[in-house]
Amino acid sequence: MIDVCDIQVMKPLLAQHGFHFSKAKGQNFLISRWVPEQIAEYSGVDRNTGVLEIGPGIGPLTQQLALRAGKVCAVELDRRLEPILKQTVGEFPNLQIIWDDVLKQDIPALVKEKFPGLRPAACANLPYYITSPILSALLEAECFDTVTVMVQKEVAQRIAAKPGSADYSAFTVFCQYYAEPELLFDVPAHCFLPQPKVTSAVVTLHVRKARPWDIADSDVFFRTVRASFAMRRKKLANGLAAGFPELGKEGAAEVIRLAGFEENVRGETLGIPEFARIANEIVKRKAMA
Ligand code: SAM
Repeated sequence: MIDVCDIQVMKPLLAQHGFHFSKAKGQNFLISRWVPEQIAEYSGVDRNTGVLEIGPGIGPLTQQLALRAGKVCAVELDRRLEPILKQTVGEFPNLQIIWDDVLKQDIPALVKEKFPGLRPAACANLPYYITSPILSALLEAECFDTVTVMVQKEVAQRIAAKPGSADYSAFTVFCQYYAEPELLFDVPAHCFLPQPKVTSAVVTLHVRKARPWDIADSDVFFRTVRASFAMRRKKLANGLAAGFPELGKEGAAEVIRLAGFEENVRGETLGIPEFARIANEIVKRKAMA
């Protein structure tokens, strides 16, 4: 197997194919072998797993996943990588590459078609410029057991943040609604070529089999969350009134009171069960209107 993380191997390989990194496609390739080994190891992938990889690049993580998984499906946007991947991962019979934009895929249909009888997992060193849309699509697909991704450390901290902390955001609530995050390890910038400006981190999202909250309407729940964070450090009633103009300021204050909170409570201190209580009061109020 070609050691694609060895810079003495990688550079001539890229040169041989006239390949130049595309910043626009978020191409920072791994040059430290321990990183893809650890990501694959922590992802818990085994012969009973079907793995969707996003953005194989020249294949460092793909190799590690194909060595462990029952099947790997890798979706790559940049067709210039085709002859290189042929050389680096062409030997794996359990690997299929799909040349397309991952955001254009019907992920649940893909998983159903490619991984019958296998435990579906997703694993990737994500392109930074579309981390949130990809992660959202993977979680909303509601078909994976685990989603293990390398992202900017700042994003990993946001995914795993606790209510009231500086990193806590609407994206935190979105991720934790679907999954329980586990921060795994940091990856310094010198592990990539070209070097990004920031440290990266690997996180596993253990997708929830059931949600332990009573949420009457998930659309209203997410609207409530977005409205609550839209006006950070302001009173929740103002945020809610802006996000749900139909409530009005008084209606927003009443909803908060009926959900059991003080009127001056701040949205960024609330957890999922608390947002659920407020959202459910809004649903009740709408039903009565
Ligand atoms: N997995 C490789 C590694 O770890 O060295 C490459 C990771 S690099 C950060 C991100 C990869 O995602 C690149 O190969 C890039 O071409 C690919 N990519 C970018 N946008 C994509 C998209 N919308 N759909 C699929 N792949 C994409």
